[in-house]
Amino acid sequence: MVNENSDNFDNSQYRWDPFHKEWIIYAPKRNLRPFQGKKFEDAPKKTWTCPFCPDAPEGSGEWIVKQLPNRFASLDENKHFTIEKIMGSFKKTAPNYGKCEVILYSQDHDASFGTLEHQNIVALIKLWQERFEALKKMKYMKYIFIMENRGKEIGNSMTHPHGQIFSFPFIPPKIEKEYLAFKQYNEEKNSCLLCDILKEEQEVPEFKEDKEDKEDKHDFNNGTNSRIVCENEDFLAIIPYYAHWAFEIHIIPKRHFSSIIELKDNEIETLARIMKVVVRKYDALHDDGEIMPYVMAMHNALVNTKQKSENSFHFHIEYYTPFRGKGKLKFLAGVELGTGTMICDALPEFNAKIMRDLSP
Ligand SMILES: [Zn+2]
Ligand SMILES: [Zn+2]
Ligand SMILES: [Zn+2]
Repeated sequence: MVNENSDNFDNSQYRWDPFHKEWIIYAPKRNLRPFQGKKFEDAPKKTWTCPFCPDAPEGSGEWIVKQLPNRFASLDENKHFTIEKIMGSFKKTAPNYGKCEVILYSQDHDASFGTLEHQNIVALIKLWQERFEALKKMKYMKYIFIMENRGKEIGNSMTHPHGQIFSFPFIPPKIEKEYLAFKQYNEEKNSCLLCDILKEEQEVPEFKEDKEDKEDKHDFNNGTNSRIVCENEDFLAIIPYYAHWAFEIHIIPKRHFSSIIELKDNEIETLARIMKVVVRKYDALHDDGEIMPYVMAMHNALVNTKQKSENSFHFHIEYYTPFRGKGKLKFLAGVELGTGTMICDALPEFNAKIMRDLSP
């Protein structure tokens, strides 16, 4: 008889939510993962405080950027994504097949994305490409999600600069919505939704500030205000017209392509530059000497589906920060959690100007 409370009992699994028609990951073992500075229960003799630093086994060796398996993974590549049990009228579960990796950005514990050398970020983008290519070969994976959680406000317990890659055997709900929007727009207009949005955003003239003017006097819906935060030859960074978060920034390539492996050499360089500028602007906005907490979500095309579906997706990177202004944290509350409708604390045009004017 397996005791559910025993350390050896792996009750990680997916469960199907029949109302929202989506899989939920249950990962009870993740509660055992360490916090920085605390000793691992299974490694009482260790001498390091950060497992990703060069003096620890995982961080050792010669490297600029490094990929590691996630030792406290919520997904397991040794399982199979087969719906195992349908019990009664609604209980549907499946083994938590998938893969979680950690990507170390630097050997320097105190570095952060905004302080990395350009060549370090270039190496990071190349490692993301390499991992995307490798993970895509796992034929049961449907989505490869490259991301970074940064800062204690969003629950990142490890300050060593790093990101993660989650590989899923299904298409996560937010990605599926985006993919369906691209598909539907393409079928109706024979064009790409994000290519068209980019064209329109580049045509919006920047607002000429009148010192007497206040935000509430502006007509932000009449297309006279730019939502561009910064740009270079190949990429545009904007706070989208439809941002969910006050300082949500999307980095979008000006050329239509679907995933990170399609970047040309010059685009690897320009993407490295614009990502660093965006993060440095966030850090400058935070303005108390601390790094700005954020989530970086890279939206690549689906994998192992129909080629046409994959090609219709327009690659982009989304950043969300829980800050809605200096020192003010945004909490998801009744309306957001209870209905799924976001209440955003500022118009994108207004905050885009604040971000555009910051020159870190
Ligand atoms: Zn470290
Ligand atoms: Zn496009
Ligand atoms: Zn997206």
